[in-house]
Amino acid sequence: MRLFVAFVLLLVCAAFVTSSASAQPATTKRDLPPGLQIPDAARPGPTFDVDRATDAYLNLLSPEQRASSDAYFEGGYWLQLFAFLYGLLVAGVLLRGGISRRMRELARRVSRRPWLSTWIYALLFVGALFVLNLPWSIYADFVREHQYGLATQDFAGWFGDALKGLMVSAIVLPLLLVAIYAAVRRAGPRWWVWASLIGFAFAIFAMMLAPVYVEPLFNDYKPLREGAVREAVLSLARANQIPTDHVVEFDASRQTTRISANVAGFAGTTRVALNDNLLEKTSQPEIKAVLGHEMGHYVLNHGLRGAIYISLLLALGFWFTHRLFDAALARWGNSLGLEDRADPAALPLAVAILSLFTFLATPIANSIVRQMEAEADAYGLNAAREPNGFAMAAMRLSTYRKIHPGYLEEVVFYDHPSGYARVHGSMLWLKENQDNPTANASLPPLNPK
Ligand SMILES: [Zn+2]
Repeated sequence: MRLFVAFVLLLVCAAFVTSSASAQPATTKRDLPPGLQIPDAARPGPTFDVDRATDAYLNLLSPEQRASSDAYFEGGYWLQLFAFLYGLLVAGVLLRGGISRRMRELARRVSRRPWLSTWIYALLFVGALFVLNLPWSIYADFVREHQYGLATQDFAGWFGDALKGLMVSAIVLPLLLVAIYAAVRRAGPRWWVWASLIGFAFAIFAMMLAPVYVEPLFNDYKPLREGAVREAVLSLARANQIPTDHVVEFDASRQTTRISANVAGFAGTTRVALNDNLLEKTSQPEIKAVLGHEMGHYVLNHGLRGAIYISLLLALGFWFTHRLFDAALARWGNSLGLEDRADPAALPLAVAILSLFTFLATPIANSIVRQMEAEADAYGLNAAREPNGFAMAAMRLSTYRKIHPGYLEEVVFYDHPSGYARVHGSMLWLKENQDNPTANASLPPLNPK
């Protein structure tokens, strides 16, 4: 354990050195310049050609930008594999090192009531997981993000956010685990059915509470700023029957250089949020296009539908875990000092098995989400009627998302349509709507600020 602490400290130091060394002077080279660009080939006319227009947009990325984006995104494929293996290693340390067993003994010394000792074990588990995962998260979420110029926080700021995340986990996960273990004790081999239902209920609860209690811990949310953009967005919201006070902006530039917007919440707490990078780096047609997409999520009820689809997949995961968990306990339970499936000390084993499932099911989960994203794309093009804005926004996202993957690559790794698919879709739309005002207008000067 002492060795591990030394290792963590070393990594923290390394993180400091790396972050100061790679503090790039500006992010201008990694980003496309602010303002809408419409390549000549993407102008309406009798010779308009979808593929030529698409290629012209793709060429807005310099070879260096494209290489860096590909490297970042393809590195992410390996990162998923290593994260999975690292998780197995952590589970191994907790089980073989007897840490999990000792946490269960400690929890039982505090209380013999199963729900209370489970809660205490879960709290210790969350803490242990945070510490053991720290070297990995420092590399994957801090060092690497800085290397690619995507992160804006210093280490203290990043670590502060990580601690807030730990606090949220320490509240939520023990409650979830107490409920699941109660099901394990009562329902026996049918526990996985109950765990799936509990998981779904928790997902709905989390969706309702996150925008109100969790997201404001990390960022400042406020009504969308005054101005022409606000008028355009609110008009779009009214036209799509979205309650207008549900459009807000937040200061994502605290953490990242990425542009984004999202729909979060469920039932009464649902709202569309734009980040400040989007507002500051892009043009009005782009913002309208992105918001049209986000409003598509809202109108098509993707929050609830996504929760249902992913919960069904998770049910399969719990069933998979159930089958392998009993077999693994029969084989290694004794030597690891684990009792039965209701023993919290065996949790790392169950989590390792579930992580094997989620790792293998990544292409399915990605395809479920990507399908909904494609629906929102189509909705957004029709709602905002800004094909050039949407193509431009897709190009900006492509500075950190590989723009033109192979077919199988997109199915396996992409939870959004690729930049190529989005630009191509926008140009298809434009071909059928050549009277589009933005596409026919002369451009405002590039970089107006
Ligand atoms: Zn989306």
